Amino acid sequence: VGRSAPGAFLLSIGSELLLGETIDTNAAFLARELASLGLDLRGVSQLPDERRAIAEGFAAALTGHDVVLATGGLGPTHDDLTREGLAEALGEELHEDAALAESLRTRFGGAGRMPVSNLRQAMLIPSAQPLDNPIGSAPGWWVERDGRTAVLMPGVPAEMQRMWAEQVLPRVRRTWQMRPLAMRTVKTFGVGESAVAERLGDLLESPGDGIDAGIYARDDGVHLRFITWEDEARLDGPMGRAIALLGDDVFGTDDRTLPGVALAALRGAGVRSLVSLESGTDGALLAILAGHEASTAEAAYRGGVLATDDGVPAAPPFADAVLALRLHAPAALGRSRVTVSLAAPGIGWDVVVRIHGSGQQRLRRAAFAALDVVRRECGRTQKEGRA
Ligand code: ATP
Repeated sequence: VGRSAPGAFLLSIGSELLLGETIDTNAAFLARELASLGLDLRGVSQLPDERRAIAEGFAAALTGHDVVLATGGLGPTHDDLTREGLAEALGEELHEDAALAESLRTRFGGAGRMPVSNLRQAMLIPSAQPLDNPIGSAPGWWVERDGRTAVLMPGVPAEMQRMWAEQVLPRVRRTWQMRPLAMRTVKTFGVGESAVAERLGDLLESPGDGIDAGIYARDDGVHLRFITWEDEARLDGPMGRAIALLGDDVFGTDDRTLPGVALAALRGAGVRSLVSLESGTDGALLAILAGHEASTAEAAYRGGVLATDDGVPAAPPFADAVLALRLHAPAALGRSRVTVSLAAPGIGWDVVVRIHGSGQQRLRRAAFAALDVVRRECGRTQKEGRA
């Protein structure tokens, strides 16, 4: 999207990331923070605990980005080399900072108690200001050089997040004028990703000036997302066009969820409370409905029963309606049939739909498909009622 936002780059440092032992949740956390703040994240790199690789990573990232945020490699041991790598990239010398060394000694309860190796955490370069770490031993660094900023934070997520919130975020706000990334989402269910793309025609590639469009296949359907660094109102046009083109397959926008939409539709149809009955899904529908944050404008979810193929228990009688879901054995091409039925006073239907996928995704998609059937059936009844 537009380049007016300051550009940012993330470095996640630690060989354990490259071995797949640690998942890079630090980068995911910072990516969300940067988007909501208004920094344009241009890329993320994961680097091993090697001084050369870290130095080259910083040198490359600092070319062409206003700010580079790094996490990890600030510990006291020989393989914590982030400070050394950045010093090398900037051509600066490390020196021990007397105040930092003193506060580390205090932290350890006296000079004699601190392992000598921890003194590495008292090292600074001339361009660095230390950032306080109240819950760990490694201070961070805020470095300004030649119009660019590099920030070092610890790898431990709790330490990093606290340092981000208390030390880094206020400095970022002081340094750059920013407008948050505006983001709007259209959510569909029941249509594949490529079919959605086809129906949107050129809207995906040319959503408008300064606007980017993306399409994502999730368990709860295909989501279409528009983003801009400009005014959020710019997104109204493409949102309206997408909703018109996708019609009934749209179940909601932005924060709306399938459970919320389905339970609201049931409430609209006069159903006050609901229980679920499912087989073949390992309780996926129960998990999704139980995790949903209820609202008074919706039918209340009272609980669910898991059934086996032989011996379907009767649904508990403590709700107005029973939503029953049965996921059948997978057929060819990753397809599975799902039977969805609803029994409530004055309402009753049985619908078969197909879903795609395997493993856990197959189970969750079956559950979301049941909720989508509820939404569609309630919508249809309402239309017929009006006609
Ligand atoms: P400290 O000195 O406070 O230990 P550090 O900067 O030395 O911090 P690392 O040694 O690199 O941090 O990592 C410490 C732990 O933090 C790792 O073992 C891992 O569990 C977690 N961690 C590191 N990097 C990440 C990351 N990118 N995402 C999630 N967790 C991480």
